[in-house]
Amino acid sequence: MVPQARDSDILILGAGGAGLFAALHAHKAAPELGITVAVKGLLGKCGCTRMVQGGYNVALAAEDSVERHFMDTIEGGKWLPDQELAWKLVTLAIERIHELENELGCFFDRNPDGTIHQKAFAGQSFDRTVHKGDLTGIEIMNRLAEQVWARRIQRLEEHRAVELIKTADGDAIAGVLFIDMRTGDYLFVRARAVLLATGGGPTMYRYHTPSGDKTCDGLAMALRVGLALRDMEMVQFHPTGLLAGAHTRMTGTVLEEGLRGAGGFLLGGNKERFMPAYDAKAERATRDVVSRAMFTEMRKGNTTPHGGLYISMGHLGPERVRREFKGMVERCADCGFDLAGGLVEVVPTAHYMMGGVEFAADCTTVLPGLFVAGEDSGGVHGANRLGGNGVANSTVFGAVAGDSMARFIKKEKFREPDRRAIDAAIARCERPLSAPSGDLEALRERLYDTMWERVGILREAGGLSQALAELDALDAELARTGVIDTTRAFNLSWHDWLNLQSLVAVSRAITQAAAARQESRGAHYRGDFPHTGALETSAYTSIRADGTVTMKPVAFTRVRPGQTLLKHAA
Ligand SMILES: Cc1cc2nc3c(=O)[nH]c(=O)nc-3n(C[C@H](O)[C@H](O)[C@H](O)COP(=O)(O)OP(=O)(O)OC[C@H]3O[C@@H](n4cnc5c(N)ncnc54)[C@H](O)[C@@H]3O)c2cc1C
Repeated sequence: MVPQARDSDILILGAGGAGLFAALHAHKAAPELGITVAVKGLLGKCGCTRMVQGGYNVALAAEDSVERHFMDTIEGGKWLPDQELAWKLVTLAIERIHELENELGCFFDRNPDGTIHQKAFAGQSFDRTVHKGDLTGIEIMNRLAEQVWARRIQRLEEHRAVELIKTADGDAIAGVLFIDMRTGDYLFVRARAVLLATGGGPTMYRYHTPSGDKTCDGLAMALRVGLALRDMEMVQFHPTGLLAGAHTRMTGTVLEEGLRGAGGFLLGGNKERFMPAYDAKAERATRDVVSRAMFTEMRKGNTTPHGGLYISMGHLGPERVRREFKGMVERCADCGFDLAGGLVEVVPTAHYMMGGVEFAADCTTVLPGLFVAGEDSGGVHGANRLGGNGVANSTVFGAVAGDSMARFIKKEKFREPDRRAIDAAIARCERPLSAPSGDLEALRERLYDTMWERVGILREAGGLSQALAELDALDAELARTGVIDTTRAFNLSWHDWLNLQSLVAVSRAITQAAAARQESRGAHYRGDFPHTGALETSAYTSIRADGTVTMKPVAFTRVRPGQTLLKHAA
C-alpha cells in the first residue's frame, strides 16, 4: 500500500500544552516555515492539558523564589530529577505565565490588590499555584487554540501518528507515518524536524484519570525507533478517583485533593477512618502514602459495594462543602452520590507518568531531528511530580522545543525516508484487518487487571515477573486477534487494537523498570524492598525496547542530597 505524502518543515505530534506552545514559538521565530500540528482528536478539544483543574506552579511572589520552587521539585522527586531540566522548568515557568497572560490572553484569578492569586498545593513550601477557579486547563487550551487557529499553521486533525520513520541509514528522522482516522488512509509526512508531544498517559491501569485519546502511542513509537525511556517505573496515583461502577466513564476521574486538604475523611467499607493508623498526617499525607494505605485496606477486603473506599465530608457542614466544592458536589451528584452530606465511593487512580523519552534541556533527543516535550518526556520530575508542575512542564518545554526546532532546521534539509520501514509499519497496522476477529475487550480487561494488581501501587518481584509473562502472552494474543469491522473510516475497533498494542509495549517497559529498581522511592513502592536507597548514589532507570534496563547515576549539577540552594537554610 503506497501512502499519500506531503512535506512540512516542522511537524508536531500532539495538540496539548506542549504541542501548541511549540507551534506558536516556532511560528514566532520563523513565520515563513511550514508548521503542521497533527493530532489524534480535534485541536484544542483533546489531551489532558484541557483537564487541568488545580493550576500552574510558578515562583511569582516576592517572598517566593525559583530556588525554592527548584528545591521543592528536587526533594519532591526524591533526588531523581535531572537538575538542569528542573532548573529550566522553574525559571522559564515565570516567562510562560506572563506570556499566557499578556500575549495569549488568559485570565487567571487575582487578589484584591490586582496581583495574581496563587493557592496552596500539596508538597510545596509556598503557595505558588496560579489558577482560573478549578478550570485552569480550559482557559489555557482555549486561548492557545485560538492563537494557533489565527496563524498560518497547518492542522491534521483526527490523524493518528503510527510510526516515526528514520532515513535508510538510520542517522536521523525523516518523517512520520499517520492513519487519517476519517478515511483510514495512510499519510506520510516528511519533515525537517519532528516534535513528539503525545502526552504519555497511564491508561493501562483499571482506574485512570487521563483522556481516552492518550494511549502511550508516542512512547511506544519512541521505543520502536530505538530511543531509551527513563524513570518508567514512576507512575503517580491520585488517591481519590470517583468509583461509580464499570458502566460509566466517570469512574476513575479525579475528586480534587482539596477535599482531603479541607479535612475530608477516608473511611473503609466498615465506615471507620483508617488513615490515622498509617500516617501522622492522616488524610493529609502525600498522594503516594494515602494511595498505598487505601490499596492496603482494599487488599484486606475492607471495601465498599464497588470494591473501593469512602470519602466523607459531611462533618465539615454540608453548606460549607456545597459552597467550597461546587464542581465536585455536582460531579458526584451526576453519579448518584451526595458529597456534601453523604458518602462517596473512591479508589486510587493512575494519573501521571513521570517517565518518558530521555532528552536534553533544549528538547533534543539522541535521534537528530526528533525533539520531545511534555508528558512524553522523562527526567523533569524524577520519582514524583508536584501537583501544578505538569502543565508548567508541558508549556515550558513546548516553547523551548518550538524555539529549538526553528533554530535547528536553518541548516537542515528534508531527508529521504526508509521505505522498508514505512512498509513494515503499514503491515503492522494492517494486521488486525485481516486476522480472525477476537475479543479486544477481554484483552483490555486482562491488561487492566495485570497492571492494577501487580504493577500498580504495591509491587514485588514475584508479581512483576508474573506481570511480564502475562504481558508477553497478551502481546502474542493481540498479534493473532483481528477486528470484526474492517471498514477503514472511523473504525474505532481498529484504533482500539492499535491503542492496546501501544499500551502493552509501554506496560512492559514500566514492569521491567519496576523490577530493576530494588528500593522504594516516591511513586514506586516495592513490598520486598521497602527502604529508600542511598540518595548520594541515586540512579535512574533507562530502558530500551529489548527490555534492557541500565541504571544511570543522577548528576547533581546544582545541589547534592543534604544541601539546599536556600540561603536562609544553608
Ligand atoms: C484530570 C487531570 C487533572 C490534571 N490537573 C493538573 C493540574 O492541576 N496541574 C498540573 O500541573 N497538571 C495537571 N494534570 C497533568 C497535565 O494535564 C499534563 O501533565 C499536561 O497537560 C500534559 O501536556 P501534554 O501537552 O504533554 O499532553 P496533552 O495535553 O495530554 O496532549 C497530548 C496530545 O497528543 C495527542 N495524541 C496522543 N496520541 C497521539 C497520536 N498517536 N497521534 C497524534 N496525536 C496524538 C492527544 O490527542 C493530545 O492532543 C492533570 C491531568 C489530568 C488527567
